[in-house]
Amino acid sequence: MKPDFDLTKVLNRIEEAIRPFPKAAMFDLFERGYNSLFEQLISCIISIRTLDETTIPVSERLFAVARTPEQLLTLDASTLADLLYGTQYPEQKAYTMLGIAHRIVEEFEGRLPADFQTLTSLKGVGPKCANLALGVAEGKAGISVDVHVHRVTNRWGYVQTRQPEQTLKVLETKVPGERWIDINRLLMPFGKYICTGTLPHCSTCPVREWCEQVGVTRHR
Ligand code: SF4
Repeated sequence: MKPDFDLTKVLNRIEEAIRPFPKAAMFDLFERGYNSLFEQLISCIISIRTLDETTIPVSERLFAVARTPEQLLTLDASTLADLLYGTQYPEQKAYTMLGIAHRIVEEFEGRLPADFQTLTSLKGVGPKCANLALGVAEGKAGISVDVHVHRVTNRWGYVQTRQPEQTLKVLETKVPGERWIDINRLLMPFGKYICTGTLPHCSTCPVREWCEQVGVTRHR
């Protein structure tokens, strides 16, 4: 018989367990000084279908040349795609970024408003990147559900959902607002290094006592 799920204890245990591992890319970039909302949004676009190990150096390569919408607009699409080399879909991401920079300059006088509706109205920006950028850069409560958050919370039995969008809706009703940003900060590395997609490390997992291990048939 499992004890009642205690989110505070679970997150505290995970905080300790992930300490030896690298931080999630956007939190890492924030600590490196790339902490504006625009930079965080651009890094999140770089991170789409791209490993953190690539997202971080590619972001730094781009920010060495352009850190603001105005600076980004001095690049043509082909130069920008070259700077994004190594990520998935560099050409598409270059067009997306130029479109975003253009709108920020034209509509918002170069300053991106820290607001979910505005961010998600930008072509190519979904709830995941909007919430993550707002959370990391602005400290605004928001849950960003990536593959790790979706997988881990379903394995716990904390949510029972098929799509990340559904997971987001359920988590918003169950997780206290002051822990929303921790969901990303903690579960991304936890899902990457401990509750891995295949063969999760259940035998040494610090939160196993609360976890229903839904769908886990084999583990380490
Ligand atoms: S017990 Fe296994 S499935 Fe559950 S959180 Fe830990 S690693 Fe993931």
